[in-house]
Amino acid sequence: MGLSTVAIIGRPNVGKSTLANRFCQSREAIIHDQPGVTRDRTYQRGFWCNSEFNVIDTGGIVFNDDSEFFPEIRNQANIALQEAQVAIVVVDGQQGITAADESIAEFLRGHKCPVLLAVNKCESPEQGLSMAAEFWSLGLGEPFPISAIHGAGTGDLLDKVVSYFPNEKAVASSDEQPIRLAIIGRPNVGKSSLLNTICGENRSIVSPIRGTTRDTVDTYVERENHRWQLIDTAGIRRRRSVDYGPELFSINRTFKAIERSDICLLVVDAIDSVTEQDQRLAGRIEDEGRACIIVVNKWDAIMKDSHTMATMEKDFRNKLYFLDWAPMIFISALTGQRVQSLFSIAKIVLEQYRRRVTTSVVNEVLKEAIGWRSPPSNRGGRQGRIYYGTQVATSPPSFTLFVNDPKLFGETYRRYIERQIREGLGFEGSPLKIFWRGKQ
Ligand code: GDP
Ligand code: GDP
Repeated sequence: MGLSTVAIIGRPNVGKSTLANRFCQSREAIIHDQPGVTRDRTYQRGFWCNSEFNVIDTGGIVFNDDSEFFPEIRNQANIALQEAQVAIVVVDGQQGITAADESIAEFLRGHKCPVLLAVNKCESPEQGLSMAAEFWSLGLGEPFPISAIHGAGTGDLLDKVVSYFPNEKAVASSDEQPIRLAIIGRPNVGKSSLLNTICGENRSIVSPIRGTTRDTVDTYVERENHRWQLIDTAGIRRRRSVDYGPELFSINRTFKAIERSDICLLVVDAIDSVTEQDQRLAGRIEDEGRACIIVVNKWDAIMKDSHTMATMEKDFRNKLYFLDWAPMIFISALTGQRVQSLFSIAKIVLEQYRRRVTTSVVNEVLKEAIGWRSPPSNRGGRQGRIYYGTQVATSPPSFTLFVNDPKLFGETYRRYIERQIREGLGFEGSPLKIFWRGKQ
């Protein structure tokens, strides 16, 4: 059996050749700023995970002008679509929908070949999400924001592409990748102790050579039927015989660990309560849109009665109010109390973090929310309207709401809607991003 094939389709200059090159990591297709330069079908060999496949770049399709190439272009596209198991239609997120995109969408609807919609030139993830959302209206399904130049989003797209290939082993789903868990916290909260308790004392300890910087060493463990990659930021402070002093708490390295993680365990100290440094780290986790569990350590060292946990939770949550969605757990790294249950909680959180809900369900929840509480009006009596909403990304779950004017929605109402989405759609333990997008 021959290799499977993906066809790349779109009007000129949207970035088809750049995308084809990215799949193939080669420079075979000609890239040029002049529209319509890649005119013929070019075949290249693409690779992704365990798959090898053909990539056909169909050249720029234009159906709505009198180009002399018109019949030829159409013909080329037809051939490509017959050969392909899946087609990617590329559009330009910076330009928005054009008439040519609409003709292409119409043309594709007449074919049986499944189509993925790539919204290119979405360099900034946040803008990309809302830029891409507009393209739902092409009726080609979910838009994937990507940047062919920088590679953002192309991995997700390729995951989807290869899922259409027959006889291919399904590509390792994200479940099979190790889950990256970063242990974050200021010095002395018990990060190394926690790591040791999780892994057992036999874990090899790598000592640093003076004067060299090294990244922290990640540790892998199996828990709850998953592989976990533990990113330890305590790192080189682990060896007590070497006296490095407190300056080794590198905030930058901690920030890097947050970036590399799927979930952060934010370790705080039950004895000290929440400090400014803790708040700073928490703020960063929230800015990066990472899932998080607040881990209150040294629970063994606290004099407790039956109210202590609730009182402490209230106090800690007040100080970390911007992570109000994050589950909180009270542990002792020293005695091991509740340490292993971190993994079952992390699994639930991650499931929510990666969950996708359909547009119709999002809109049911929105309708219900608006029913209970209408959007506010401004002084001039102009009332906010939410037309519809859609989930545009996962990890973190991100939603774009299309409204008449974002300025009409104040902080209180926004928080109300966020809460409704969170609770109505089962994202209780996950950060959410919500983009309020006005009519242009
Ligand atoms: P094609 O005609 O659809 O094959 O488009 P090309 O791949 O030749 O790209 C057309 C133009 O868009 C070139 O100037 C590219 O550098 C630019 N381009 C392609 N991908 C991206 C991207 O992800 N972001 C930005 N900003 N420009 C891109
Ligand atoms: P790190 O700097 O965050 O890696 O913190 P360490 O793991 O080095 O711990 C700092 C200090 O807190 C050490 O003296 C530990 O023995 C102590 N410690 C860590 N976890 C616990 C705990 O669960 N209970 C108590 N009582 N002490 C702890």
